[in-house]
Amino acid sequence: MAVKVCKFGGTSMADGNVMNRVKSIIDGDKDRKFVVVSAPGKRYSGDVKVTDMLYECYKEVEQKGSCGAAFALVRNRFNSIVKELNVDFDINSVLDETEERINREKSEDFTASRGEYLSARVMAEVLGAKFVDAEDVVFFDKDGAYDAERSDRAINEAVRGAARAVFPGFYGRGADGRVKTFSRGGSDISGAIVARAVNATTYENWTDVSGFLACDPRIVESPRRIKALSYKELRELSYMGANVLHSESIFPVRKANIPIHILNTFRPEDAGTLILPSVYYTPSGNIVTGIAGKKDFTVIFIEKSLMNSQIGFVRKVLSVLEKYDVPVEHIPSGIDTMSVVVESAALKDGKLELILQDIKQAVCPDTLRVTEDIALIATVGHGMSSSVGTSARLFKAMAEASVNVKMIDQGSSELNIIVGVRNEDCEKCIRAIYREFFGG
Ligand code: ASP
Repeated sequence: MAVKVCKFGGTSMADGNVMNRVKSIIDGDKDRKFVVVSAPGKRYSGDVKVTDMLYECYKEVEQKGSCGAAFALVRNRFNSIVKELNVDFDINSVLDETEERINREKSEDFTASRGEYLSARVMAEVLGAKFVDAEDVVFFDKDGAYDAERSDRAINEAVRGAARAVFPGFYGRGADGRVKTFSRGGSDISGAIVARAVNATTYENWTDVSGFLACDPRIVESPRRIKALSYKELRELSYMGANVLHSESIFPVRKANIPIHILNTFRPEDAGTLILPSVYYTPSGNIVTGIAGKKDFTVIFIEKSLMNSQIGFVRKVLSVLEKYDVPVEHIPSGIDTMSVVVESAALKDGKLELILQDIKQAVCPDTLRVTEDIALIATVGHGMSSSVGTSARLFKAMAEASVNVKMIDQGSSELNIIVGVRNEDCEKCIRAIYREFFGG
């Protein structure tokens, strides 16, 4: 029998009416047995997410020893949700306990996690399903890493015999016994964790968009929707800033070869986007699957004659970056040249100058040059490796749009071509590449 784990994001939990939609989506498919929810998100632009309200509660706890005014907003929000849902649920006694525990625990993670806790309590009531607290089934080890084995066991134990179960996303329990959250947007990870634990046939991720688009709709008008893409392509695109899913959420389900289906709560009839493990993936025939760009990188260019014959040259350069705790994004290299591409934000507060000094000392380069304000644009697609002339088309499109290429890096998997251009050329370049491969 098929088993689906459905994760509903913040906008799908935003008010009672949307939660009723969620109920009919779940009721509409008997395979939708396990539900993971986010905290209520924004109902309209300018509205405040419950998680943000809770971070304010924690500030109040820090300043005054307990939260009062800030928690009243959370209380109001959940009261109106329960009223809209018209369920017989004593939300105020749950809110009283929650407020009391926030004041007692005095923990930022615990406070922030309560949005998911409360929305899962309400959703379980609406569905008549079992509530499973993530605190009892999602564990982190002493290094703060997610403990898959222990969690898998606990999740399966908790859902045994339950027809349907609802889990709060975003948090679990640390080795110290206290509630610990994932990074922001982390309910996507919780959904993947549950999907993997119950060995789901599909992980449905319900959002407020009808899937992944081939590029950012703020740059290209109505870009094509991606019907299916592989995990690897998704990883490349979301790493480069295409934001539908939390980029870490792929790992638990990827390991178990579970497909992810991105769907829209507000248009459930839309086909959405399928993210498939390589075993199920057959390229669509499109050469390029998607294009994504990210601004504000710095390129450190190093030239030295006979660099290739100097053992340890690259290691010495990279050790300098390691010393200053700067993550390296790309290392394009030539015979006597190498460049190191890093996010400019990582070089603030004088770090760049210190790094340049240390590189000079470590390898005595003939030339050491820095280019700032670089945007990286990734053109991604499995189809690229098997079709001749893809890069020629890409560079021709850029040339025709008068975009100057500052850097080129082709991933060794031939899944992507990354080009570096000036920040101000980023949008123009994405548009040119899109037009070349998708038309329009
Ligand atoms: N509520 C959390 C956040 O706003 C987690 C999530 O929604 O996934 O980041």
